Amino acid sequence: MPEGKESKLAQIEQHISANLADFLSQHVVAKATSLEQIEQHFSDFRVPEQPDFVSSHAEVLLDKLVAHSVNTYSPTFIGHMTSALPYFQLPLAKLLVGLNQNLVKIETSKAFTPLERQVLGMVHELIYAESEDFYQHYLHSAGHSLGAFCSGGTIANITALWVARNKALQPCGEFLGVATDGLAAGLIEYGYRNLGVLCSKRGHYSIGKAVDVLGLGRRNMLMLDCPDQTLSPEQALAAGKAYQEKGNKLLAIIGIAGTTETGHIDPLDELADVAAELGCHFHVDAAWGGATLFSKSHRALMRGIERADSVTIDAHKQMYVPMGAGMVLFKNPQDANAVRHHAQYILREGSKDLGATTLEGSRNGMAMMVHASLHILGRQGYELLIDQNIAKARQFAEMIAKHPDFELITAPVLSLMTYRIHPRKLQGQLASGQMSPQHQIHYNGLLDQLTVSVQKLQREAGKSFVSRTRLEISRYQEGPINVFRVVMANPLTQLSDLEAILEEQLKIAENTEFWAELTQ
Ligand SMILES: *Cc1c(COP(=O)(O)O)cnc(C)c1O
Repeated sequence: MPEGKESKLAQIEQHISANLADFLSQHVVAKATSLEQIEQHFSDFRVPEQPDFVSSHAEVLLDKLVAHSVNTYSPTFIGHMTSALPYFQLPLAKLLVGLNQNLVKIETSKAFTPLERQVLGMVHELIYAESEDFYQHYLHSAGHSLGAFCSGGTIANITALWVARNKALQPCGEFLGVATDGLAAGLIEYGYRNLGVLCSKRGHYSIGKAVDVLGLGRRNMLMLDCPDQTLSPEQALAAGKAYQEKGNKLLAIIGIAGTTETGHIDPLDELADVAAELGCHFHVDAAWGGATLFSKSHRALMRGIERADSVTIDAHKQMYVPMGAGMVLFKNPQDANAVRHHAQYILREGSKDLGATTLEGSRNGMAMMVHASLHILGRQGYELLIDQNIAKARQFAEMIAKHPDFELITAPVLSLMTYRIHPRKLQGQLASGQMSPQHQIHYNGLLDQLTVSVQKLQREAGKSFVSRTRLEISRYQEGPINVFRVVMANPLTQLSDLEAILEEQLKIAENTEFWAELTQ
């Protein structure tokens, strides 16, 4: 890395969590306290009669709340996508709360509205790279939206499918559209039995919520097996055709760009072809992985994302913005009109009130934090963070693969990977395929219990944290297995921290009953 870049990286690392990390390491107690014990602190159910001093209440908060919260700034907290924040977010957060702008309408937000539209435009450009004329025309156009800002990926995914549903059942003849006449009338009008959504089994649970609230029903969520962790375009096409041959209409195919569990990216370009062939909406859920677009060296992994009709990106994941910052971007600036609502006192026709096309009503000016981050870190700053996280994930994966008592389960495509403890004695046998299916099931069962027990004990010890999940893996045909899941998101995590985590896990494992049984 050239020297100039390195010093910039050092600055960015300092931007991340400089002081708050110290504060939290002092105030958050590492020792495990059970949730039941903590619940005792919050057991009063009557509103206090007497007012209290702010200072004394703050003390209570430090004692009862902060002390028993989770130190997401810790370099050894590598289990989730929630991580340390750049220090500059703190003064900005104070300003944001103080100003108390409401983005639902111009009358309560004024300059915040064009700012939010600019942020949406920048992220739109990052994905779709349309022409200068395009952005000049649409960025602030009253009758169009390049996207919708919302509280997170869940609402973004719901919004995308809401748009897709309303477009699929748009007004025609006497039928005034699904928004006015309802889903039952829409299905009859168009002659569909059901509307469905297709994605891989790695699809985020928010998609289940989306088909529920949109009235499609979870039975119409086609979640295909993916032993190789990505959705197969051939299988997607076959499943979509079979579904439609039964008189249904496939509403959307969802490609995932960075799955929550393993960080894999579906073959987006091929899935765009499948969506085109089936005549359905193509949505890409890039809630976590979307920020990879900032990296010149890794953005090619996302090839085809620019063909999506809509894309979800969470700024509160790999864009290091506080929680409550999600976005859905639309390729076609007309699309948001499919969900446009009007009211008499606000959101009047022709107004630029953002609330006319957002699912949420009152909304804070979180876009300001994204705007600030985009300027203070810049594309190059984000690129450094993303590249560094991916490099670190690869180094950790190598460390795991080399260790005789660990097994790398899914190698990192981005900065997320899964692995498990697997005593050396057994590894050769189990992986060689020489073991009978019954034996495989038996040993994998023990390894599953070992993983659960180590993860729990490690969390309770309070020094470090990794998460766990359950995955189908092509090399273990006999069923899903439990794995540790880690996300490299904190720039302060060092290789020595990662070495220490493996050491701690092995020590914990060696003291369990399962280890004894596995190595006897
Ligand atoms: C996190 C995530 C979501 C949900 O986002 P929230 O901000 O938690 O609502 C959806 N999809 C993917 C792939 C995610 O990683």
